[in-house]
Amino acid sequence: MVSSTRRSPTPRAAEPRAQTDAPRELLPWLAEPLRHTLATQQAHALLLQAPPGVGQFDFAVELARAWLCETPQDQRRVPGREGLACGHCSSCHLVDERSHPDLRLLVPEALRAEAGLPVEEGGGDAEGEGRKRKPSREIKVDQVRAALDFAELTAGRARLKVLLLHPAEAMNAVAANALLKTLEEPGALRFVLSCGSTDSLLPTIRSRCQAVRLLPPAREQALVWLQSRGVGDAQEAQVLLDACGGRPLEALQRQREGMDAQAWRQFPQWVASGQSAAVSGWPLPVLVEALSKLCHDRSLVSLGLAPRYFTRSELAAGDLDQLTAWAAQLRRHARVAEHPFSAGLAVEALMLGGRF
Ligand SMILES: [Zn+2]
Repeated sequence: MVSSTRRSPTPRAAEPRAQTDAPRELLPWLAEPLRHTLATQQAHALLLQAPPGVGQFDFAVELARAWLCETPQDQRRVPGREGLACGHCSSCHLVDERSHPDLRLLVPEALRAEAGLPVEEGGGDAEGEGRKRKPSREIKVDQVRAALDFAELTAGRARLKVLLLHPAEAMNAVAANALLKTLEEPGALRFVLSCGSTDSLLPTIRSRCQAVRLLPPAREQALVWLQSRGVGDAQEAQVLLDACGGRPLEALQRQREGMDAQAWRQFPQWVASGQSAAVSGWPLPVLVEALSKLCHDRSLVSLGLAPRYFTRSELAAGDLDQLTAWAAQLRRHARVAEHPFSAGLAVEALMLGGRF
């Protein structure tokens, strides 16, 4: 059964993402796609596409780790994992510690901690101005140029060097153009470009890469893993996995932020009765996303279809025009939800938007 205590998610904490808790433990659903990718890889550059919350970054790092590993696993010793990194050699350890001389991780400043990289002093703090500067969410051209300079240097330990960009869509056009030429003539350089959607990438970038798609894991595998990470019992894990559209890392993150199954199941009722106090501790982007999912599911139910994020019994159908207008309003909020000026955005107003 679900927990009987009602907890609301606390403001987004600086808690590390799941993968940084146990960097040496491979997410179980990644092994087979990794093996397959390593066995069928033909290009020097792989473009990995995956939805968030399924281990996209872990997968990209594991590819780099396997390429650089001194003793990759073989079929006789570990069937099903041939070609994957051994996890024990000094090269694997250096990748885990983010200090391998032949690997460069290119991530936006805002994602350095999540990627296991040291956060530079003063990175998010405009010293002397008395206020915080928001860390950049872009991969900048200077980062790309510095990484390409690194590639020019003689090899450190291995016969090849690896450049990992995550998320690749964080590159602006200038940065992407700086990458193009090397992508065409890579020499001993290999690339992993990991992204959520390839739509925003330059076609010239896409055409120079081998595409790899990573899908969410099978439901059973995700549920077993969530429970092994302490996400309540099977029912709690199921509710949270559904709430996150089948993405287990996202479900774990929400649970760590304090979102439990009971809160999620009560959420439609809280919205229907305008109980904004119940969600007052939720980070604004989480609340806007939850409302968007509720709107989505109510629309499905109104069309006689099965809901995706909530269970049918928790949902009231609604007028489709009203639901469409609400969805548009939520999309506008979603665009600004991360922005500091939205911190004061009235939670009550958001909650009342769905009271029909
Ligand atoms: Zn190794």
